[in-house]
Amino acid sequence: MSRKCSNCGAEVHPNAQLYVLRIELYAKAEPLELTIDDLLADHTAQIEKLIEEMEVLDAEEATDEVYEAYAFELCAKCRRRIHRMLKQRARAHKVE
Ligand SMILES: [Zn+2]
Repeated sequence: MSRKCSNCGAEVHPNAQLYVLRIELYAKAEPLELTIDDLLADHTAQIEKLIEEMEVLDAEEATDEVYEAYAFELCAKCRRRIHRMLKQRARAHKVE
């Protein structure tokens, strides 16, 4: 079985360690702020518009908007590079 780095394409020696990078991409869940007016309003037009928009999205696209996950196998060199980049990004932009 061929062991190739998903990032640089280098062949990884059978005795060398492979690393797995998993990535998840999804919409952040945030609390909705609703007022009494929002609750009492007639949402028919809004719902109809939403349904129209959903009809033009294909099933795969609609699912991707909810949740996407990927896994990549990396060689040691790419692991080090991506590790450094992720550490820097995480330090600069903390996501709670
Ligand atoms: Zn690589």
